[in-house]
Amino acid sequence: MPTIITHAFTGLVAGKIAAPGKMPIRFWVLSAVCPAFPDFDVVFHYAGVHYSTFLGHRGFFHSPFFALLFGLLVTTVYFSGSKAFSRKWWLLALYFSFITAVHGIFDAMTFRGLGIAFLSPFSNERYLLPWRPLPPIVPSAEFMFSRWGAAVMWLEFKWVLVPTFAVLLLSIPVRRYILRARPVQPPEPETENHQT
Ligand SMILES: [Zn+2]
Repeated sequence: MPTIITHAFTGLVAGKIAAPGKMPIRFWVLSAVCPAFPDFDVVFHYAGVHYSTFLGHRGFFHSPFFALLFGLLVTTVYFSGSKAFSRKWWLLALYFSFITAVHGIFDAMTFRGLGIAFLSPFSNERYLLPWRPLPPIVPSAEFMFSRWGAAVMWLEFKWVLVPTFAVLLLSIPVRRYILRARPVQPPEPETENHQT
């Protein structure tokens, strides 16, 4: 799996591209947390759950189905001021679902390890992408500060961080064009009183 730093970075870039304007701090916190959250399933691994099972690492918690549920949950809990099932609510839910689901795609680009259960909970079959330039990591400080850890960070920098940053740069003129073409609308009344 790519490191949590890489997953969080991709979420923040996605937020920068997708945010229509100034967003509350909880939006940015969630943009960093959601893409990293699927690796929460390592707790099951340390609890003795086998890697290849439904709850095993890269199983259900890495599936698009879980990402959809998680996006809906996060939006319901943290954006309770937005009217449920309104356009804004759905956009937020789909955004958080998307950035959570991207985690599994990046993990499927690692050249070792079991694949991702993309079809869970309907099938526990594991899948990897045909192109796998990313190294798997060992989630320990000892590994990350070793020579191998540095090599991992370099490959993630080259294959994930640089392309992600390039997408961000390319999105700037596109965003400007879209915002310029959009008719000016009066601001929505602020009904949110939720705290982060
Ligand atoms: Zn993962």
